[in-house]
Amino acid sequence: AKYVYDFTEGNRNLKDLLGGKGANLAEMTNLGLPVPPGFTITTDACRHYLAAGVVPDGLEQEVAEHLDALEKQMGRRLGQADDPLLVSVRSGAKFSMPGMMETVLNIGLNDESVHGLAKQAGGNDRFAWDSYRRLIQMFGKTVLGIDGDLFEHALDTLKGKRQDTDLDAGELQGLVETFKGIVHEQTGKDFPTDPREQMRLAVMAVFDSWNAPRAILYRRQERIPADLGTAVNIVAMVFGNVGNDSGTGVAFTRDPGTGRQGIYGDYLQNAQGEDVVAGIRNTIPLEELERIDKRSYDELLGIMETLENHYRDLCDIEFTIERGKLWMLQTRVGKRTAAAAFCIATQLVDQGLITIDEAVTRVTGDQLAQLMFPRFDGGADKKKIAKGMNASPGAAVGKAVFCSERAVELSEQGEDVILVRRETNPDDLSGMIAAKGILTSRGGKTSHAAVVARGMGKTCVCGAEELEVSTSEGRFTAPGGVVVSEGDVISIDGTSGEIYLGEVPVVDSAVVEYFEGAEPEDELVKAVDRIMSHADSVRRLGVRANADTPDDAARARRFGGQGIGLCRTEHMFLGERRQLVEDLVLASTDEARQAALDALEPLQKADFTEIFRAMDGNPVTIRLIDPPLHEFLPDIVDLSVKVATDGATDKDRKLLAAVKRLHEQNPMLGLRGVRLGLVIPGLFAMQVRAIAQAAKEVPGARPEIMIPLVAAVQELESVREEAAKILAETGVEALIGTMIEVPRAALTAAQIAEAAEFFSFGTNDLTQMTWGFSRDDVESAFFSRYLDQGIFGVSPFETLDREGVGRLIRIAVEEGRSTRPDLHLGICGEHGGDPDSVHFCHDVGLDYVSCSPFRIPIARLEAGRAAL
Ligand code: PEP
Ligand code: MG
Repeated sequence: AKYVYDFTEGNRNLKDLLGGKGANLAEMTNLGLPVPPGFTITTDACRHYLAAGVVPDGLEQEVAEHLDALEKQMGRRLGQADDPLLVSVRSGAKFSMPGMMETVLNIGLNDESVHGLAKQAGGNDRFAWDSYRRLIQMFGKTVLGIDGDLFEHALDTLKGKRQDTDLDAGELQGLVETFKGIVHEQTGKDFPTDPREQMRLAVMAVFDSWNAPRAILYRRQERIPADLGTAVNIVAMVFGNVGNDSGTGVAFTRDPGTGRQGIYGDYLQNAQGEDVVAGIRNTIPLEELERIDKRSYDELLGIMETLENHYRDLCDIEFTIERGKLWMLQTRVGKRTAAAAFCIATQLVDQGLITIDEAVTRVTGDQLAQLMFPRFDGGADKKKIAKGMNASPGAAVGKAVFCSERAVELSEQGEDVILVRRETNPDDLSGMIAAKGILTSRGGKTSHAAVVARGMGKTCVCGAEELEVSTSEGRFTAPGGVVVSEGDVISIDGTSGEIYLGEVPVVDSAVVEYFEGAEPEDELVKAVDRIMSHADSVRRLGVRANADTPDDAARARRFGGQGIGLCRTEHMFLGERRQLVEDLVLASTDEARQAALDALEPLQKADFTEIFRAMDGNPVTIRLIDPPLHEFLPDIVDLSVKVATDGATDKDRKLLAAVKRLHEQNPMLGLRGVRLGLVIPGLFAMQVRAIAQAAKEVPGARPEIMIPLVAAVQELESVREEAAKILAETGVEALIGTMIEVPRAALTAAQIAEAAEFFSFGTNDLTQMTWGFSRDDVESAFFSRYLDQGIFGVSPFETLDREGVGRLIRIAVEEGRSTRPDLHLGICGEHGGDPDSVHFCHDVGLDYVSCSPFRIPIARLEAGRAAL
């Protein structure tokens, strides 16, 4: 194997092997830009080292050969006493992990070569001793694992009130002695003076820094795989700390906040790279370099233009000027805000650098999502009192209320409220709708509160366990004894999970206003408009909405939804209608049951009529009722308590007996979906009749009837027959299909397709049942541990698990289509609006995805990206 690449050998496409920094240094070298010579040790070597605990055979030999070549090119040897070559040893992984891993500068200095360095710099002793103390400091901290504060403290003590540039050569020489003392004291050994040994140890330290805790944490957050390893770059040192004709800086080729072209950067005179990041002295704006060193400044601007044209994107760079000579130390395609991403993509199209196809691939659904949420004004004063999980992004401000009735009441009076609960349940829906935001102290990202809030596009912070919520007393306590009572104003940030006392000013999303129908005005919205139109024109996947109210349906249309992929009819039975469902489920006689059905039918018909109208000729997939029973029956504990008290009636006692009879240990695996339809005569028939009658009233209505939780074709057949009969009687045409949300349904899809004209993958249940994870519990219970341990990088309830759940989907798609080539295929689990999962749906050949109205634009964009 080849483990080492000279900068002249690599290129920017070798990021896997050379890391981002190494690949781009090679690219710049080959572009003829002024890059100090050097070479890169591959990520392969790092992976080998991390797995085996030793560097691979042959690596040391290869490094020695490249170092020889570097020494020849530079005309000096590493650490040569009278004229030393110094090198930096820099980390650089495939994905940028800013500041998370290690770098050591000035390798090659020791008590002899420090004099040689001074001579090289024209007798500049100060510079040489400053470089030497930096080496010991960085090496001590990074390679030897000494607490960096010890060095900082010694430096601060010496400086007093002065700046580090005020220290003279003698003082810095003294500091070197102090630092050496620290090393000896902390490690029991002397600072290593052999230059090659310094380099060897530094390389291993960089390898090891791949597994530093902060690097692990960062990777988890950014979803960077844990097994990539880092490359190591060994680069001839150039010095920004030789004097005032030297310095170091960072710059962007355009504004990473807005995308505007211009000069964006910082410069620090007489300094080395780490000073800029560490904020030791205040940097100056890059524009001022023009005054200090016009030649270097002009050259830098020229290089930035070359880089933008070459990379055809915003680049960020690091550079150093050594005695008037400019050197490029790094470049990469730069990180940017979501807003800048859209603006830059279209700017580059206008400049003729990229095509509009490319522009679509340059932005992501996650970035679009960020642009859709209102946010807190970044500059405002805030008093943070706690932090929970960022369950549904956005910024919400309002009076804290502790029950749904109060939330509704106050919002009707025109007040903004935040609904604060320990956790929410379906009864809280009205309060959640009325509230600006939802805050819970228990439950994870798929808790009821989180899922419902996301569905509504409503800000939600959940699982804020530091909060002590007392609903009965109408207040919560935050750490530090802060008490928030009903009516006190709080602000919650669903993007960060932070909770503030008092009102933090909020700014609205212009992008949402645009999706709602406003004309695009500012540059950002125009950019979004162009990119969305193009994504729509190239995507193959249709995008539908999960919607069960006329309002949601109407919004879904405005946001570009091409129909409804999931109308959850049980959501139509919450609130005051819940009683009717309870009556139905608990009915002990045929008459009682029929009475309940008769009461429900006209309500259902009216619901469907409105939705068909809102959908205006687009397909509407109506799922027959699928209520987990525990959500619709009275709480067994409450009822038992009531029965045990004196005031209990005979009816209460009968009710309790019935509830006990139907009580289930695992309601999610119990009498739900098609099972309920088969057990309660007339229920599904009532719904189908209501659908048919509504369809008759709305010209152009396109109902699709969907049977939930089917596991066997036999379950489907009898329901299908009954439905088909009702449709025939009423003369209404509708597709009849099924959800695929039980693994057995996926595995027997060939049979099921005989009785289904469409499949819609219910990946919430399919994930729950494939993994055996309770969707209501696991995220708060132990997923954080699983994420910590890297068992998965992201919750399978959030992003579709391609290997497991995805495999079942593939099987069902293939087998279903083998039975029925025109089988229509969609997805309606939460994954339908998740960017990565949308790509999977495209790849596996589904016809459409369905997601909550607010995620429709994200799905449209990602479907476009998937097609390119
Ligand atoms: C599903 O299971 O993915 C689904 C869409 O149904 P529900 O979430 O209502 O169970
Ligand atoms: Mg389901």
